[in-house]
Amino acid sequence: CGIIGIVSETGVADRLVDGLKRMEYRGYDSAGVCTLDTDNNGGHELVRRRAKGKLENLVAELAGNPAPGTIGIAHTRWATHGAPTAANAHPHATDRVALVHNGIIENYKPLRDELVAAGRTLESETDSEVVAHLVSQQIEVGASPEDAVQTVLPRLRGAFALAILFRDHPGMMIGARRGSPLVVGYAEGEMFLGSDALALATLTQRIAYLEEGDWVVLTRDGAEIRDTDNAPVQREITTSGASA
Ligand code: GLU
Repeated sequence: CGIIGIVSETGVADRLVDGLKRMEYRGYDSAGVCTLDTDNNGGHELVRRRAKGKLENLVAELAGNPAPGTIGIAHTRWATHGAPTAANAHPHATDRVALVHNGIIENYKPLRDELVAAGRTLESETDSEVVAHLVSQQIEVGASPEDAVQTVLPRLRGAFALAILFRDHPGMMIGARRGSPLVVGYAEGEMFLGSDALALATLTQRIAYLEEGDWVVLTRDGAEIRDTDNAPVQREITTSGASA
């Protein structure tokens, strides 16, 4: 229901939760965050925290089990496919890819059957989890994050806004929109994704609205936006009136 993503150089978990709070008015049944933390071998690992019910449950979960990291995504869920449980809460993930999704993947069933037939184990009842696995499948055979997303987006039917993290590309986040709104927020040395300008109001007022079919690669230094045909495009950066 609500998405926020932050690419930064300081910890993001608290600010992600603040962004979720700003979207509470939309309604939700569960919530979650995922950050990228460094592991003990000089690599990175996806750290996921999720909770059913009110945001204070997620806050309590994070108090006991923090989510360190300077890049992360977060979500408030309004269930369409699968009961409102912690296991169905977003982010959904494989060991390499994590994502949050607003909307409905209409053709999730054949996609899910295909993934199961390929020997993959899905952990939730959601339509959203299939997208994490489809992207991960591409990454696992050597695709770049951009190529993986370009391959998977045309396979999806229905409405979505997505924010995706990649374990082995710790400075990058990819967003995509079709049918559900998604905005890009710009700041000095930091970049943001949000379902709306309000979610980002305490973080930045400089907002670009993605257009239908757009997808975007975010790093701390900026955003590269592409249209449905994967052609680079510019979207106007406006100063939002959303008040902090
Ligand atoms: N269809 C997805 C689910 O049921 C996303 C719902 C939402 O937009 O919050 O998990």
